[in-house]
Amino acid sequence: PWEYAPAPESRDIANLKPSYRMFVDGEFTDGGGEPLKSINPATEEVLAEVGSADESDVDTAVRAARRAFEQTWSRMPGTERAKYLFRIARLIQERGRELAVLETLDNGKPIKESRDADIPTAAAHFFHHAGWADKLAYAGYGPDPRPLGVAGQVIPWNFPLLMLAWKIAPALACGNTVVLKPAETTPLSALVFAEICQQAGLPPGVVNIVPGAGDVGAALVAHPGVDKVAFTGSTEVGKQIQRTVAGTGKKLTLELGGKAANIVFDDAPLDQAVEGIVNGIFFNQGHVCCAGSRLLVQESIAEELLEKLRARVRTLRVGDPLDKNTDVGAINSAEQLARITELADSGDVEGARRWTSPCPLPERGFFFSPTVFSDVQQSMRIAREEIFGPVLSVLTFRTPAEAIAKANNTPYGLSAGIWSEKGSRILWAAQQLRAGVVWANTFNRFDPTAPFGGYQESGFGREGGRAGLEAYLDV
Ligand code: NAD
Repeated sequence: PWEYAPAPESRDIANLKPSYRMFVDGEFTDGGGEPLKSINPATEEVLAEVGSADESDVDTAVRAARRAFEQTWSRMPGTERAKYLFRIARLIQERGRELAVLETLDNGKPIKESRDADIPTAAAHFFHHAGWADKLAYAGYGPDPRPLGVAGQVIPWNFPLLMLAWKIAPALACGNTVVLKPAETTPLSALVFAEICQQAGLPPGVVNIVPGAGDVGAALVAHPGVDKVAFTGSTEVGKQIQRTVAGTGKKLTLELGGKAANIVFDDAPLDQAVEGIVNGIFFNQGHVCCAGSRLLVQESIAEELLEKLRARVRTLRVGDPLDKNTDVGAINSAEQLARITELADSGDVEGARRWTSPCPLPERGFFFSPTVFSDVQQSMRIAREEIFGPVLSVLTFRTPAEAIAKANNTPYGLSAGIWSEKGSRILWAAQQLRAGVVWANTFNRFDPTAPFGGYQESGFGREGGRAGLEAYLDV
């Protein structure tokens, strides 16, 4: 074990301040709630204190968003709204280094991921939606689509800035205004985004950021001044929100959990598949709703594939998230680490075979070794429940039909992967899988032009692409 201490200059690069405040009606103000402490999960040290909203702050924010909707934003021509979105996109790029380091400090994800995935993809979402703002009449949802009004948005901690971009960019492009609640463990990049809104000259009230815990999210979702609720998070909270919203006439989209199958057929390019499997489950410490957490491998190649997989996982570097060579960073919180540990232990109890990467872990901080369970049965908890951590469950199948049956044997339906050299097999399998996104011979590819979203208990509604606009328009 080694002692991990983050380089002091990282705080300067991230422009880290001792305290952050909520952003309402174009101003940073003190919230009435109990302040949050944002913790660096790699060191367990406090990064900053963050002012939290209370119910009356949520009310003030929703009223500000309503005024901005009625007086400025919804009346503005799409070409004008587009200019603001382009400006925001460019500012995210300009402040990309600062945002990447801040995101890594606050979330624990490897810097190469925040630098190469989170931040550029967030900017790409604003660029993409800036392009839509003046072309909504061509979106295919009627000749004169209208914005819905005030959007109340609640996001999780796994991709803090990127989830914000998925929510705010389409809402603004369509002419809605926003009150967004970031996750309590990762509020910092959302508050820097608020600075970017100021820098871009966005009219006050168009974007409001109200940090806080679940009670603040609940107050936002229930507020009668909110016309549209967009939630990304756990299936459990998603169901609660669905009950709150029922009968109110509010529009709702839910992006919830997953338990994706990554299916490897006997004709697959194995080395390529190994890369995709590793990316599928160890990217972002497995804190990914569409993580390929169930590997389904054809029995005849299972042994060979597992051997290659273990050899590859042995090479993954776990540790300092700010080190450019780190592949697997810190688990976001002590609670999440406890949840992963408990679920992995259930795998031992239920008779699966555990293999863990030999890479030593730092002494401090929340870390979990990349883990592969083989001999997994469908009835085991590690095959059914979302672990949301770096834990892969390996199951085998004999025939393509059995692969599909096992893949679909889940209440979720967010994503799936197929590995095969045969085009006809890929197309056949993609048709059979009940998943909103199916990747073939790749995994975890995201693009603002492609709709993303789930079936069944993974939620409903799409984000991205033309389909993503539908969630923010009346037609
Ligand atoms: P969570 O549901 O606990 O929290 C998500 C957000 O909801 C947080 O901001 C939280 O403060 C807030 N919240 C909690 N209780 C609330 C309530 N009663 N009313 C309103 N808001 C409330 O989820 P999490 O642990 O932060 O995130 C992990 C989950 O998110 C996983 O299940 C993952 O699969 C899912 N997720 C889904 C997608 C997707 O696109 N489908 C993307 C990322 C994460």
